[in-house]
Amino acid sequence: MSFESIYPEVRALVDGLWDHPELGYREERTSRAVEEFLHRHGDGLRVERFSTTGLKVALPSAAGASPAVPGGDPAAAPRRRIAVVAELDAVISPAHPDADPTTGAVHACGHHTQVGIALAAFAQLVATGAWKQADVDLTFVFVPAEEFVDLAHRARLREEGTITWFGGKPEAMMLGVFDDVDAAVCLHAIGGLQEEPTIEIDCDLAGFLYKTVEFEGVASHAGLDPFSGTNAYAMATLFTTALGLGRQQLREDVLVRMNPVIPSTEMTTNVVPHRAVVGTDVRSIDLDYLGEVASRVDRAAHGCAAALGGTAHVRTEMGYLPFVQDRTMSGAFREAFAEDPTITRLIEDRGAIAAAGDAGDLSFMMPTVQLSYGGFDGTIHGRDFRMVDPEHVLIAVPRLLVAALLRLGAHLPEPLPRRTYAEYVETIAAIAPVPEGAAPAAAADAPSPAAPGAPVPTSPSEAR
Ligand SMILES: [Zn+2]
Repeated sequence: MSFESIYPEVRALVDGLWDHPELGYREERTSRAVEEFLHRHGDGLRVERFSTTGLKVALPSAAGASPAVPGGDPAAAPRRRIAVVAELDAVISPAHPDADPTTGAVHACGHHTQVGIALAAFAQLVATGAWKQADVDLTFVFVPAEEFVDLAHRARLREEGTITWFGGKPEAMMLGVFDDVDAAVCLHAIGGLQEEPTIEIDCDLAGFLYKTVEFEGVASHAGLDPFSGTNAYAMATLFTTALGLGRQQLREDVLVRMNPVIPSTEMTTNVVPHRAVVGTDVRSIDLDYLGEVASRVDRAAHGCAAALGGTAHVRTEMGYLPFVQDRTMSGAFREAFAEDPTITRLIEDRGAIAAAGDAGDLSFMMPTVQLSYGGFDGTIHGRDFRMVDPEHVLIAVPRLLVAALLRLGAHLPEPLPRRTYAEYVETIAAIAPVPEGAAPAAAADAPSPAAPGAPVPTSPSEAR
């Protein structure tokens, strides 16, 4: 089977996902389509489900031995297992003409094409038996909920015990989905029109956390008696102004970003508002500095509320950790690119950008890379994002991905770095409250407070 021959089926599936975008932890139709494809092309391989809509399928070890178990043949390097990771969910971008009119969901982040690329690679590897020539073992993981959106729904799912983490990868990490995996390859679309067939490697991403500040004042008649009121909206205004003025004191080299918004309001003009809520993300590529900025945000919230006689209640939700790509693994993609007849441009020098993804969380545990690919036009998450070169995205990119996977064993860092889920939870706990039930079951032998090098805890946040 060639990538050309599987293309019509993959294209139809990807178009179907575009037409039926689903938000994180709600990707039922998407998950069904992926599962059916895996069964059609999986030659009887078992497809595991996890969390709400997640799917995992492991190709057998070509060595015929358990993967990555040290101490087998001391002469041979241990055989490693690599996960190819694709994301199932859409983003909310209601201004996009193809957005779902009810939910605002649209694949304006291109995750539907990640699914197509992973499935094309899977089908080709199985049909040709090429996986037997790989110097690593391969697993494909389809993960829910990468976009940090629709949080009220996720809070409900958390309350009823369906999920623990808002992000699909931390959730999968907690569930042990990556326990038998040594390194990961993620995929992502590049926004903006690329003039020629393009891929990108080595682009790091920021981490972020999310603050919700509820300003509390006292309601009163805005005309008759504003004098006995305490205006919560005025506190919110002062707070967003303080964040803006505070930018002068923020380092420029670590890509700090904040976007304070008022997500919804019950305010009317004839009542002095007693409540105003401001939500903001706080991003940086430096985890220590992220903790520092987060504590400044808390200080501004409390100070602005106090200045006007009210109170601020601050809640902190960890988003994702900064993503640092493994430069050793990238070598496999560089080699595959050099041999590729159709992909003509490799971007490898962007350094870091302030977008974020939960690939960062995965990269905390194990060496991880992200293969990014052009073939689109418009802004990522914007109203004009769309695929314009489907043959590049769904034929050339899967071909290059497979070529890189087959030789990845020669491009793994040695020794292979590995951190545990318990260490992950500890690191998060140093800058934000950890969701209830997130601590690993064997907490007894987990080292307790902050890991060395982890940021110092910020001022206490109220969990409300
Ligand atoms: Zn994305």
